[in-house]
Amino acid sequence: MAWKNADVVVIGGGVQGCASAYNLAKLGVKKVILIEKNSICSGSTGRCGAGIRAQWGTEMNCRFGLACLDIFENLEEELGMSVGLNQGGYLMVAYKESEFDQLKANIKLQNSLGIRSGVVTREEAYTICPGLSADDALGFTFHQRDGHADPFLTTFAYMEAAKRLGVEFLKFTEVTAIKVEKGRVKTVVTDKGEIDTAVVLNTAGGFFQDVAAMVDLELPIHSENHDIMVTEPVEPGVCPPMLMSFSGNYYLQQRPDGTIVGGCSPIGHPMDSDLRSRFAFLEHMSSVFTKLLPRAKDIRIVRQWAGLYNMSPDCQPILGEAEHVKGFFLSGAYSGHGFMFAPITGKLMAQLITRGNTDMPIHMLHYRRFAEGKLIIEPAVV
Ligand SMILES: Cc1cc2nc3c(=O)[nH]c(=O)nc-3n(C[C@H](O)[C@H](O)[C@H](O)COP(=O)(O)OP(=O)(O)OC[C@H]3O[C@@H](n4cnc5c(N)ncnc54)[C@H](O)[C@@H]3O)c2cc1C
Repeated sequence: MAWKNADVVVIGGGVQGCASAYNLAKLGVKKVILIEKNSICSGSTGRCGAGIRAQWGTEMNCRFGLACLDIFENLEEELGMSVGLNQGGYLMVAYKESEFDQLKANIKLQNSLGIRSGVVTREEAYTICPGLSADDALGFTFHQRDGHADPFLTTFAYMEAAKRLGVEFLKFTEVTAIKVEKGRVKTVVTDKGEIDTAVVLNTAGGFFQDVAAMVDLELPIHSENHDIMVTEPVEPGVCPPMLMSFSGNYYLQQRPDGTIVGGCSPIGHPMDSDLRSRFAFLEHMSSVFTKLLPRAKDIRIVRQWAGLYNMSPDCQPILGEAEHVKGFFLSGAYSGHGFMFAPITGKLMAQLITRGNTDMPIHMLHYRRFAEGKLIIEPAVV
């Protein structure tokens, strides 16, 4: 006999799983069980830079980014708990002519969609970011509504609100198999017992492809180790915006407590799920910090850690239902933007599961796009 039963089982207690579980319960699903093999927020979410932006280069991502800003700005009120939102803006830094041209094209697109971003001069950039030194940069763009939130507070706020709506959280419980009968999800097998359900939502982050493989769905996905580090606190106002550069390969920001957090992409994007930190990153990022923010020259690095980017062939997420297994839904492969998109994708996945349609189109994010050659090429990803 089954240990439990549920209307929907959500696999993974990161921000995507918690936001989806909350939205499912909000839409009236009575019995939602979320299963997390470790503690809530122990995966990529608790290891991320938590940047939020609408400065994208495709219409789809601009619309998602804008929708997320709208939700984030009211999330504390909606969930009844602070999410640590800090809208210091994103200051994009271009070092190459072609890069600056692309940023300017992005701004044109963003403005046409109602995003009030723009090109700023070097002087304006130095006013927005008083600690910045970027005399070698060719141009800058800025959007004030961008910024960052606290990934732990955001995820815990979704979890607490979901619990109030009746969602059950099973922590330190690992999903080991999924039973399918006549092309439909039947049972989720865990190391504690079996749960009967007709609907599973896979939000397993860096293990998304492993959970998909449990229903014989082979996805062209891999996980990548990304390092990030934090300094001791310095006086506030050194770096209020998130600084980001694609050719410079960095992102960094000052947290409300004065610490500076920053990271970059590993050279060559090796497929690597190892969570150990690398000395090469420490060396590289320290020189980026001190060059960009001379004020950081004598400050100490407090900690370095790593998390997983879950990567699809076009660095865009996979959303939708499996073609060959009814009731198996997917929300993963978020690359470096799964934290910021959670408020909207959590809502859209809950709509898809309960109503079969969504307020914003997501069909183009189905995994069938890879076989059809319909990749979504986003010029503004790290
Ligand atoms: C260094 C770094 C910086 C980043 N910066 C940003 C940023 O600035 N902005 C942004 O938007 N995104 C950023 N990201 C990306 C972001 O962290 C992820 O896209 C997002 O957190 C994914 O959320 P998730 O809930 O899908 O996954 P996760 O948070 O990884 O949650 C998935 C959970 O599933 C659990 N799980 C897996 N398999 C099983 C199983 N079999 N049974 C039970 N539980 C299971 C895991 O333990 C994990 O807790 C960054 C990522 C990294 C690593």
